[in-house]
Amino acid sequence: MYPWLMPYWQRFQLMFAGKRLPHAFLLAGPSGIGKSALAVQWASLFLCEKPQQNSPCGHCHACQLSRQQAHPDWHVYGDDDTRTIGVDTIRQLSAQLMNSPQLGRGKVAVIRQAERMTEAAANALLKTLEEPPGNSLLILQSESAMKLLPTIVSRCQVWTLQADEQQALTWLHEQLPGRNISPAMLRLNQGAPLRTLAYLNEGGEQQRQAVITALDAYRLQPWTIGSLTKCWVSAMPVTFEWLSRLLLDALKLQQGVALQQLPFADHPALLSFLAQRPAECLLDSMQQLLQLKQSLADMPSAVPSILFADWLSQLLTKE
Ligand SMILES: [Zn+2]
Repeated sequence: MYPWLMPYWQRFQLMFAGKRLPHAFLLAGPSGIGKSALAVQWASLFLCEKPQQNSPCGHCHACQLSRQQAHPDWHVYGDDDTRTIGVDTIRQLSAQLMNSPQLGRGKVAVIRQAERMTEAAANALLKTLEEPPGNSLLILQSESAMKLLPTIVSRCQVWTLQADEQQALTWLHEQLPGRNISPAMLRLNQGAPLRTLAYLNEGGEQQRQAVITALDAYRLQPWTIGSLTKCWVSAMPVTFEWLSRLLLDALKLQQGVALQQLPFADHPALLSFLAQRPAECLLDSMQQLLQLKQSLADMPSAVPSILFADWLSQLLTKE
Protein backbone atom coordinates (compact mmCIF):
# COMPACT_ATOMS: atom_id res chain seq x y z
CA MET A 1 0.00 0.00 0.00
CA TYR A 2 1.35 3.42 -0.92
CA PRO A 3 2.22 5.36 2.26
CA TRP A 4 -0.11 8.30 1.58
CA LEU A 5 -3.04 5.88 1.23
CA MET A 6 -2.50 4.30 4.65
CA PRO A 7 -4.96 6.58 6.53
CA TYR A 8 -7.71 5.67 4.04
CA TRP A 9 -6.87 1.99 4.26
CA GLN A 10 -6.88 2.02 8.06
CA ARG A 11 -10.20 3.85 8.16
CA PHE A 12 -11.71 1.25 5.84
CA GLN A 13 -10.31 -1.56 8.02
CA LEU A 14 -12.02 -0.09 11.09
CA MET A 15 -15.33 0.15 9.27
CA PHE A 16 -14.93 -3.41 8.00
CA ALA A 17 -14.15 -4.68 11.51
CA GLY A 18 -17.17 -2.85 12.93
CA LYS A 19 -19.38 -4.15 10.09
CA ARG A 20 -20.22 -0.55 9.26
CA LEU A 21 -19.41 -0.55 5.56
CA PRO A 22 -21.83 1.37 3.36
CA HIS A 23 -22.90 -0.28 0.10
CA ALA A 24 -21.34 2.33 -2.12
CA PHE A 25 -18.23 4.50 -2.03
CA LEU A 26 -17.07 7.24 -4.31
CA LEU A 27 -13.29 7.57 -4.38
CA ALA A 28 -12.50 11.03 -5.72
CA GLY A 29 -9.09 12.49 -6.49
CA PRO A 30 -6.77 13.36 -9.38
CA SER A 31 -5.48 10.62 -11.64
CA GLY A 32 -2.30 9.13 -10.19
CA ILE A 33 -3.36 9.53 -6.55
CA GLY A 34 -3.92 5.76 -6.19
CA LYS A 35 -7.71 5.31 -6.39
CA SER A 36 -7.38 1.95 -8.15
CA ALA A 37 -4.73 0.67 -5.74
CA LEU A 38 -6.98 1.49 -2.80
CA ALA A 39 -10.03 -0.10 -4.44
CA VAL A 40 -8.02 -3.29 -5.07
CA GLN A 41 -7.00 -3.46 -1.43
CA TRP A 42 -10.56 -2.89 -0.24
CA ALA A 43 -12.01 -5.49 -2.59
CA SER A 44 -9.37 -8.05 -1.57
CA LEU A 45 -10.27 -7.64 2.09
CA PHE A 46 -14.00 -7.66 1.41
CA LEU A 47 -13.74 -10.98 -0.49
CA CYS A 48 -11.06 -12.74 1.61
CA GLU A 49 -12.29 -15.93 3.29
CA LYS A 50 -10.12 -15.59 6.41
CA PRO A 51 -9.08 -11.99 6.97
CA GLN A 52 -6.18 -11.61 9.39
CA GLN A 53 -6.22 -8.50 11.56
CA ASN A 54 -8.56 -6.85 9.09
CA SER A 55 -6.22 -7.46 6.16
CA PRO A 56 -6.61 -9.95 3.32
CA CYS A 57 -4.86 -13.21 4.36
CA GLY A 58 -3.16 -13.57 0.97
CA HIS A 59 -3.45 -17.37 0.99
CA CYS A 60 -7.10 -18.38 0.70
CA HIS A 61 -8.75 -19.35 -2.59
CA ALA A 62 -10.41 -15.92 -2.82
CA CYS A 63 -7.12 -14.09 -2.23
CA GLN A 64 -5.39 -16.19 -4.88
CA LEU A 65 -8.12 -15.43 -7.41
CA SER A 66 -8.08 -11.76 -6.43
CA ARG A 67 -4.35 -11.57 -7.02
CA GLN A 68 -4.80 -13.06 -10.49
CA GLN A 69 -7.64 -10.61 -11.17
CA ALA A 70 -9.83 -13.65 -11.76
CA HIS A 71 -12.24 -13.53 -8.83
CA PRO A 72 -15.72 -14.33 -10.21
CA ASP A 73 -17.45 -11.96 -7.77
CA TRP A 74 -15.28 -8.94 -8.47
CA HIS A 75 -15.86 -6.98 -11.66
CA VAL A 76 -14.26 -3.79 -12.90
CA TYR A 77 -16.14 -1.57 -15.35
CA GLY A 78 -15.02 1.42 -17.36
CA ASP A 79 -11.50 0.09 -17.66
CA ASP A 80 -11.30 0.03 -21.45
CA ASP A 81 -10.56 2.81 -23.88
CA THR A 82 -14.13 3.44 -24.98
CA ARG A 83 -15.12 7.03 -24.48
CA THR A 84 -18.30 6.52 -22.49
CA ILE A 85 -19.76 3.98 -20.08
CA GLY A 86 -23.13 3.05 -21.53
CA VAL A 87 -26.37 1.83 -20.07
CA ASP A 88 -25.65 -1.77 -21.12
CA THR A 89 -22.53 -1.82 -18.98
CA ILE A 90 -24.46 -0.59 -15.95
CA ARG A 91 -27.24 -3.15 -16.54
CA GLN A 92 -24.55 -5.82 -16.61
CA LEU A 93 -23.20 -4.46 -13.32
CA SER A 94 -26.64 -4.44 -11.70
CA ALA A 95 -27.26 -8.02 -12.81
CA GLN A 96 -23.90 -9.07 -11.39
CA LEU A 97 -24.73 -7.53 -8.02
CA MET A 98 -28.22 -9.12 -7.99
CA ASN A 99 -26.84 -12.64 -8.53
CA SER A 100 -25.68 -14.75 -5.61
CA PRO A 101 -21.93 -14.65 -5.07
CA GLN A 102 -20.14 -17.64 -6.54
CA LEU A 103 -17.71 -17.98 -3.66
CA GLY A 104 -20.08 -16.90 -0.95
CA ARG A 105 -18.35 -13.90 0.61
CA GLY A 106 -20.00 -11.10 -1.32
CA LYS A 107 -19.75 -9.15 -4.57
CA VAL A 108 -17.65 -6.20 -5.59
CA ALA A 109 -18.20 -3.88 -8.54
CA VAL A 110 -15.78 -1.10 -9.40
CA ILE A 111 -16.53 1.68 -11.90
CA ARG A 112 -13.39 3.48 -13.02
CA GLN A 113 -13.67 7.01 -14.41
CA ALA A 114 -17.34 7.01 -13.44
CA GLU A 115 -17.73 10.51 -14.93
CA ARG A 116 -17.73 8.80 -18.33
CA MET A 117 -21.18 7.31 -17.66
CA THR A 118 -23.85 8.47 -20.09
CA GLU A 119 -27.00 10.00 -18.63
CA ALA A 120 -28.92 6.76 -19.26
CA ALA A 121 -26.16 4.78 -17.56
CA ALA A 122 -26.17 7.10 -14.55
CA ASN A 123 -29.94 6.76 -14.23
CA ALA A 124 -29.67 2.98 -14.42
CA LEU A 125 -27.02 3.04 -11.70
CA LEU A 126 -29.27 5.19 -9.55
CA LYS A 127 -31.78 2.33 -9.33
CA THR A 128 -29.07 -0.02 -8.07
CA LEU A 129 -27.91 2.59 -5.56
CA GLU A 130 -31.47 3.08 -4.30
CA GLU A 131 -31.95 -0.62 -3.62
CA PRO A 132 -28.47 -2.03 -3.13
CA PRO A 133 -28.37 -5.85 -3.22
CA GLY A 134 -27.23 -7.54 -0.01
CA ASN A 135 -23.57 -8.02 0.78
CA SER A 136 -22.22 -6.04 -2.11
CA LEU A 137 -19.61 -3.34 -2.33
CA LEU A 138 -19.78 -0.78 -5.09
CA ILE A 139 -16.77 1.48 -5.60
CA LEU A 140 -17.02 4.42 -7.99
CA GLN A 141 -13.84 6.24 -8.97
CA SER A 142 -13.76 9.75 -10.37
CA GLU A 143 -11.44 12.72 -10.55
CA SER A 144 -14.06 14.83 -8.82
CA ALA A 145 -17.49 14.34 -7.26
CA MET A 146 -18.53 17.49 -9.15
CA LYS A 147 -18.36 15.53 -12.40
CA LEU A 148 -21.14 13.16 -11.34
CA LEU A 149 -24.89 13.62 -10.91
CA PRO A 150 -25.63 14.92 -7.39
CA THR A 151 -28.21 12.12 -6.99
CA ILE A 152 -25.44 9.55 -7.51
CA VAL A 153 -23.00 11.32 -5.20
CA SER A 154 -25.57 11.65 -2.40
CA ARG A 155 -26.05 7.87 -2.35
CA CYS A 156 -22.33 7.14 -1.98
CA GLN A 157 -19.97 7.70 0.87
CA VAL A 158 -17.52 10.14 -0.71
CA TRP A 159 -13.83 9.95 0.11
CA THR A 160 -11.60 12.56 -1.49
CA LEU A 161 -8.05 11.26 -1.63
CA GLN A 162 -5.06 13.51 -1.09
CA ALA A 163 -1.40 12.75 -0.61
CA ASP A 164 0.57 14.29 2.24
CA GLU A 165 3.21 16.34 0.43
CA GLN A 166 6.19 15.32 2.55
CA GLN A 167 5.23 11.66 2.43
CA ALA A 168 4.76 11.84 -1.32
CA LEU A 169 8.15 13.51 -1.84
CA THR A 170 9.89 10.93 0.34
CA TRP A 171 8.28 8.16 -1.68
CA LEU A 172 9.27 9.80 -4.98
CA HIS A 173 12.87 10.14 -3.81
CA GLU A 174 12.87 6.43 -2.98
CA GLN A 175 11.62 5.60 -6.47
CA LEU A 176 14.12 7.89 -8.23
CA PRO A 177 17.24 7.99 -6.05
CA GLY A 178 19.59 10.85 -6.82
CA ARG A 179 16.99 12.78 -8.77
CA ASN A 180 16.20 16.37 -7.85
CA ILE A 181 12.47 16.42 -7.07
CA SER A 182 10.83 19.61 -5.85
CA PRO A 183 7.41 20.17 -4.24
CA ALA A 184 6.61 22.25 -7.34
CA MET A 185 6.87 19.13 -9.53
CA LEU A 186 4.33 17.38 -7.33
CA ARG A 187 2.01 20.40 -7.44
CA LEU A 188 2.31 20.56 -11.23
CA ASN A 189 0.82 17.08 -11.21
CA GLN A 190 -2.14 17.88 -8.93
CA GLY A 191 -0.27 16.53 -5.92
CA ALA A 192 -0.64 13.00 -7.30
CA PRO A 193 2.53 10.96 -6.64
CA LEU A 194 2.00 8.23 -9.28
CA ARG A 195 1.33 10.84 -11.92
CA THR A 196 4.43 12.78 -10.82
CA LEU A 197 6.51 9.61 -11.12
CA ALA A 198 5.28 9.04 -14.68
CA TYR A 199 5.89 12.73 -15.48
CA LEU A 200 9.50 12.46 -14.29
CA ASN A 201 10.11 9.07 -15.93
CA GLU A 202 8.64 10.07 -19.27
CA GLY A 203 10.57 13.32 -19.72
CA GLY A 204 7.70 15.65 -18.80
CA GLU A 205 9.91 17.90 -16.72
CA GLN A 206 12.48 18.33 -19.51
CA GLN A 207 9.67 19.19 -21.90
CA ARG A 208 8.18 21.78 -19.53
CA GLN A 209 11.59 23.37 -18.98
CA ALA A 210 12.21 23.52 -22.73
CA VAL A 211 8.83 25.15 -23.45
CA ILE A 212 9.20 27.79 -20.74
CA THR A 213 12.91 28.44 -21.27
CA ALA A 214 12.26 29.07 -24.98
CA LEU A 215 9.69 31.72 -24.04
CA ASP A 216 12.07 33.36 -21.58
CA ALA A 217 14.86 33.41 -24.17
CA TYR A 218 12.54 34.94 -26.76
CA ARG A 219 11.42 37.64 -24.31
CA LEU A 220 15.04 38.79 -23.96
CA GLN A 221 16.14 38.02 -27.53
CA PRO A 222 13.15 38.30 -29.89
CA TRP A 223 15.17 37.02 -32.86
CA THR A 224 15.04 33.50 -31.37
CA ILE A 225 11.47 33.01 -32.60
CA GLY A 226 12.60 30.22 -34.93
CA SER A 227 13.96 28.01 -32.18
CA LEU A 228 11.03 28.86 -29.92
CA THR A 229 8.50 27.76 -32.55
CA LYS A 230 10.47 24.58 -33.24
CA CYS A 231 10.54 23.74 -29.54
CA TRP A 232 6.85 24.46 -29.01
CA VAL A 233 5.74 22.50 -32.05
CA SER A 234 7.79 19.48 -31.00
CA ALA A 235 6.25 19.60 -27.51
CA MET A 236 2.65 19.96 -28.65
CA PRO A 237 0.05 19.40 -27.24
CA VAL A 238 1.59 19.87 -23.78
CA THR A 239 3.03 23.21 -24.94
CA PHE A 240 -0.47 24.65 -24.56
CA GLU A 241 -0.93 23.17 -21.13
CA TRP A 242 2.37 24.56 -19.81
CA LEU A 243 1.80 28.00 -21.32
CA SER A 244 -1.69 28.34 -19.89
CA ARG A 245 -0.53 27.18 -16.48
CA LEU A 246 2.34 29.67 -16.61
CA LEU A 247 -0.15 32.46 -17.30
CA LEU A 248 -2.34 31.23 -14.47
CA ASP A 249 0.66 31.47 -12.15
CA ALA A 250 1.33 35.03 -13.37
CA LEU A 251 -2.27 35.96 -12.53
CA LYS A 252 -1.93 34.41 -9.09
CA LEU A 253 1.28 36.33 -8.50
CA GLN A 254 -0.54 39.49 -9.49
CA GLN A 255 -3.19 38.71 -6.91
CA GLY A 256 -0.62 38.42 -4.15
CA VAL A 257 0.10 34.69 -3.95
CA ALA A 258 3.70 34.18 -2.80
CA LEU A 259 6.08 33.29 -5.62
CA GLN A 260 7.48 30.23 -3.86
CA GLN A 261 4.02 28.68 -3.64
CA LEU A 262 3.61 28.67 -7.42
CA PRO A 263 4.55 25.67 -9.58
CA PHE A 264 6.47 27.92 -12.01
CA ALA A 265 8.54 29.53 -9.24
CA ASP A 266 11.59 28.04 -10.98
CA HIS A 267 11.28 30.81 -13.61
CA PRO A 268 11.02 33.86 -11.31
CA ALA A 269 12.17 36.52 -13.80
CA LEU A 270 9.70 35.45 -16.47
CA LEU A 271 6.88 35.10 -13.97
CA SER A 272 7.53 38.55 -12.46
CA PHE A 273 7.65 40.07 -15.93
CA LEU A 274 4.33 38.49 -16.90
CA ALA A 275 2.74 39.53 -13.60
CA GLN A 276 3.42 43.16 -14.58
CA ARG A 277 1.31 42.78 -17.71
CA PRO A 278 -2.34 43.92 -17.43
CA ALA A 279 -4.63 41.18 -16.09
CA GLU A 280 -6.92 41.49 -19.16
CA CYS A 281 -3.93 40.84 -21.37
CA LEU A 282 -3.10 37.63 -19.49
CA LEU A 283 -6.72 36.49 -19.57
CA ASP A 284 -7.01 37.29 -23.29
CA SER A 285 -3.81 35.37 -23.95
CA MET A 286 -5.17 32.34 -22.12
CA GLN A 287 -8.32 32.50 -24.18
CA GLN A 288 -6.36 32.86 -27.40
CA LEU A 289 -4.21 29.92 -26.45
CA LEU A 290 -7.30 27.70 -26.55
CA GLN A 291 -8.25 29.07 -29.97
CA LEU A 292 -4.70 28.61 -31.20
CA LYS A 293 -4.73 24.99 -30.08
CA GLN A 294 -7.99 24.44 -31.92
CA SER A 295 -6.75 26.19 -35.08
CA LEU A 296 -3.65 24.07 -35.22
CA ALA A 297 -5.71 20.90 -34.70
CA ASP A 298 -8.28 21.90 -37.35
CA MET A 299 -5.94 23.23 -40.04
CA PRO A 300 -3.00 20.98 -40.81
CA SER A 301 -1.74 23.61 -43.28
CA ALA A 302 -1.57 26.39 -40.67
CA VAL A 303 1.90 27.79 -40.07
CA PRO A 304 2.52 27.64 -36.31
CA SER A 305 5.27 30.27 -36.37
CA ILE A 306 2.84 32.92 -37.69
CA LEU A 307 0.13 32.00 -35.19
CA PHE A 308 2.59 31.92 -32.31
CA ALA A 309 4.15 35.26 -33.37
CA ASP A 310 0.73 36.94 -33.16
CA TRP A 311 0.06 35.39 -29.82
CA LEU A 312 3.46 36.42 -28.46
CA SER A 313 3.12 40.03 -29.53
CA GLN A 314 -0.27 40.25 -27.81
CA LEU A 315 1.12 38.69 -24.65
CA LEU A 316 4.44 40.51 -24.40
CA THR A 317 3.99 43.91 -25.99
CA LYS A 318 0.35 44.91 -26.49
CA GLU A 319 -0.72 47.77 -24.26
ZN1 LIG B 1 -7.72 -14.47 2.03
